[in-house]
Amino acid sequence: MLKQSGNIAYAASPLLETTNFISHGFLSRLGGISKPPFASLNFDIREGDAVENVKHSKAIAGRLFGFDASRLLTINQVHGSDIFTIDKPVKDISGLSKTSADAIITNQCGIAIGVLTADCVPILLADPVKNVVGVVHAGWKGTAKGIIEKAIETMVKQFDSDKKAILAAIGPSIGQCCYKVDETVIKEFGVRSLEFKGNEFIEKKGTAWRVDLKKTNYAQLLKSGILKQNISVEDICTSCRNDIFFSYRADGKITGRQLNFIMMKK
Ligand SMILES: [Zn+2]
Repeated sequence: MLKQSGNIAYAASPLLETTNFISHGFLSRLGGISKPPFASLNFDIREGDAVENVKHSKAIAGRLFGFDASRLLTINQVHGSDIFTIDKPVKDISGLSKTSADAIITNQCGIAIGVLTADCVPILLADPVKNVVGVVHAGWKGTAKGIIEKAIETMVKQFDSDKKAILAAIGPSIGQCCYKVDETVIKEFGVRSLEFKGNEFIEKKGTAWRVDLKKTNYAQLLKSGILKQNISVEDICTSCRNDIFFSYRADGKITGRQLNFIMMKK
């Protein structure tokens, strides 16, 4: 479900919108000031965009969603499966951004936790009973390592969440339509994917393989014990719609990153 506010377009989960304790959004690439190849609402300086532009992106996102830009936390994503947790108040979060991990989980209010993507799958998690939120970055490597399953386990073990209460929202990411991969990926990915009814998430046409990352993460959520009615999936493909979203595949390697965030309100 795409929404528009001023120049900013973003996707929201109809499921997460039914709760009133959180603010969340899967932002698009529209509405910022970065120039090509980062045009325009870019949140990542690692590919060479100006710091000022990214600062501007954070400020306008903060204004729209009600957080202070200094309380937006993204970390050093490394395509692994480590989960970073915050379970006590942190005054200055700036030092935390150096943490290498691909998921953040917290029970603290007022910290907007986010992952940056351009085709990879962003997943937002919320437990409205224990008041815990999480954000996960799942590319093919993270998906092959089962990062979403690890994140759910962490919510249960460390934050006492009941799986039946957890809401999960899979955000805009590359669809099977555009995700051609080679044998190396299939080899690693296949091991996990084969746990679910043969290889329904892998399709072979001629010599080309295509993987469905969203469906695989969806299946992993179900396997983790998350209820079907508590999962929402944004179907849009970032590569087909690189006019709206940054796409590593469609934009030609050097591109920006969109923000996917969730925050517990104070
Ligand atoms: Zn596509």
